[in-house]
Amino acid sequence: MDGLISVAVAEALIAEHMPAFASERVPLQRAAGRILRQAVLAERDQPPFDRVMMDGIAIRWRETLPAAFKRVGVQLAGAPIAVLDDTDACIEVTTGAVLPRGCDCVIPVEQTRCGGERYHLREGVAPQRDQFIHCRGNDCVAGAKVLDPGARIGPTAMALLAANGVAQVEVAKVPSIAIIATGDELATVDAVLEEGQIRRSNDFALASALQAHGFDRATSHHVGDDAQRTRELLARLLDENDVLLLSGGVSMGQRDLVPAALEALGVRRVFHRIAQRPGKPMWFGIAPGGRAVFALPGNPVSSLVCAIRYARPALLRAMGLSAALPERVTLAADAETNPALTCFIPVHVHQDASRLWVAQAVESRNSGDFTSLAGTDGVVEVPPGQSVARAGAAVVLHRW
Ligand code: AMP
Ligand code: MG
Repeated sequence: MDGLISVAVAEALIAEHMPAFASERVPLQRAAGRILRQAVLAERDQPPFDRVMMDGIAIRWRETLPAAFKRVGVQLAGAPIAVLDDTDACIEVTTGAVLPRGCDCVIPVEQTRCGGERYHLREGVAPQRDQFIHCRGNDCVAGAKVLDPGARIGPTAMALLAANGVAQVEVAKVPSIAIIATGDELATVDAVLEEGQIRRSNDFALASALQAHGFDRATSHHVGDDAQRTRELLARLLDENDVLLLSGGVSMGQRDLVPAALEALGVRRVFHRIAQRPGKPMWFGIAPGGRAVFALPGNPVSSLVCAIRYARPALLRAMGLSAALPERVTLAADAETNPALTCFIPVHVHQDASRLWVAQAVESRNSGDFTSLAGTDGVVEVPPGQSVARAGAAVVLHRW
């Protein structure tokens, strides 16, 4: 269609123009949930010593073992290494202790009976050499790479960072994002509404779509349909933020003032309008200094679809998050689409009787209908070229 670019081209243009966000060092205590921007190497062998794996006794193994062992010492976790000289004796050990020198076998306490100063093996117990010993370096060796940059720091990464002595972690800096709702008709959530007014909801939806992915430096703003005030607000917000995310005012109407205001401020348009439904009027540009400006259509469904399909993933990539594999689901029923456009269809996702993840499309008459979105999981992306997406087709799911 005239002047429209494809979803793939829009995505590629955004990726090409996005700035890379900076990183910062934070104490490990504040690193959970952040995006890791450094590799982590093993500080030392893991385990760093031959580690006892059971509470019990450590002995020197041989083919024919005595029936009982004299207790000559204790090796507790955290204590310096003990030594066993007498091969008919044993040392009591606890899980996590260093294996005493001279020992090569740990016998769990429940396989023994203790009488006085002697441990007797219970009947039928036949210890093997090296049993219940976690050998030094078995998990990994000093200097081996244990974490790559690019992952969201979850519990396993936290454990590895801590275990390897990374007290200060290099993570992506969270960009400051100004979310700007535009339109004379918009009133606040607690306003007494005048005729013709509606409450602003897009900025709350967009902030929440970002917040859930760690963007906790977003602020919300509003400006009416006034060219000068729009320019003034945008100029100030461009000065103060890394990213602008606008909603409304990007279509072809006489009050769609956003593209002209942005261009007057020197924001270079990268594209305007994508062959998709909803969200066709989306505008994207780069401000002097490289800050990204996403100007999304005002219709609530359109703005949210554009935010989760373009803005959020681009921001995450610019923070260094590695690309995730697309999540695919199966369409539960035929869905009407437009052969000239990529269609984003809101869906409920559930497991059917054969445990397949299927997407049930939600009837949405137009992109201003958003009550029907309640409880949906996201949208599926149906590429152009067909007027009906058939039941059983595998489609990519974008979660809200
Ligand atoms: P626009 O893209 O400015 O033409 O807006 C398209 C439609 O979305 C209009 O019906 C607006 O009233 C509505 N709309 C725009 N911004 C918001 C917002 N922040 N919250 C809710 N609805 C909005
Ligand atoms: Mg408007």
